[in-house]
Amino acid sequence: MTNSLTLRRPDDWHLHLRDGEMLAAVAAYSGHFGRAIIMPNLVPPVVTGAQAAAYRDRILAALPPEVTLRPLMTIYLTETTDPADLIAAHRDGIISAVKLYPAGATTNSASGVRDFDKVRPVLEAMAEAGIPLCTHGEVTDPAVDIFDREAVFIDKVLDPIRRATPGLRVVMEHITTSDGVDYVSANQNIGATITTHHLVINRNHILVGGIKPHYYCLPVAKRESHRLALRRAATSGDQRFFLGTDSAPHPDRAKESACGCAGCFTAPNTMSILAQVFEEDGALDRLEGFTSLNGPAFYGLPANEDMIRLVKRDTPATYPTHIPAGDETVTVFDPGFPLYWHVEDPA
Ligand SMILES: [Zn+2]
Repeated sequence: MTNSLTLRRPDDWHLHLRDGEMLAAVAAYSGHFGRAIIMPNLVPPVVTGAQAAAYRDRILAALPPEVTLRPLMTIYLTETTDPADLIAAHRDGIISAVKLYPAGATTNSASGVRDFDKVRPVLEAMAEAGIPLCTHGEVTDPAVDIFDREAVFIDKVLDPIRRATPGLRVVMEHITTSDGVDYVSANQNIGATITTHHLVINRNHILVGGIKPHYYCLPVAKRESHRLALRRAATSGDQRFFLGTDSAPHPDRAKESACGCAGCFTAPNTMSILAQVFEEDGALDRLEGFTSLNGPAFYGLPANEDMIRLVKRDTPATYPTHIPAGDETVTVFDPGFPLYWHVEDPA
């Protein structure tokens, strides 16, 4: 039985760090990661290269000196994005990707795209410059059931975009369905991030025995067969699938409300949870690919040089159940089982 594992330092290819007091409270909790793709859905959103550079500087200022996390910035695609600004920001090393939110899909996505024809010139320029497009893969048509929004997005938005701009490299972010797994598996020039929590919970965790707001996120967790498809994809060794935690802190007050916010805060305990998930599926030897190798390969970056060590002990690792954030608290994702894998960092 394997009781310890040394891996290249993992990266998080989808992370929300927020801003201000919340940024200061949560940033250090991503300290196990070497790099993270930082989501631009602030209020107001990060829509220019200059704003991305300023946000990167705020993140770096919020990180304690012992945390070496390198933020990889993104720009929020709108119908008025200037292709020249975006290309320059990429050329100057300010941004690593561009994020597409269908208007209204999730937290702070009101500025997202309604008419995809309007962004076609930007997508063409991105394809030419080799800038990946990260997509929030849900349609927002009120007529489409929330549990079907990812599958409909593939047919109505994603596949048409990829056909119209075949050179564009696309990441389907936080896939939650077997439809997402199947689409990515059948295509090239596409990758997919999978979150920690979608490997652990299905929709029963949110809805059975009383509503559990801390398990509510978008895209919402689906039925068990979809969770199992995600587990198979994550543990398959297929390079197109890699970790993006989508760790998304909200104040507890905003989660535990009549209209609770979407997002799970998984940054602190993600590596312990993933070690357990991969062990259960007999795939510990593929954990490093999922957390540390496949993502850099997709983004055309080297893997991190340094290592972390995971050690399985008889007593569970302890993580806080809540962390303070200014006058608020943020609940850390509870996987519902004890975490025997401890992270030793540095290895
Ligand atoms: Zn997200």
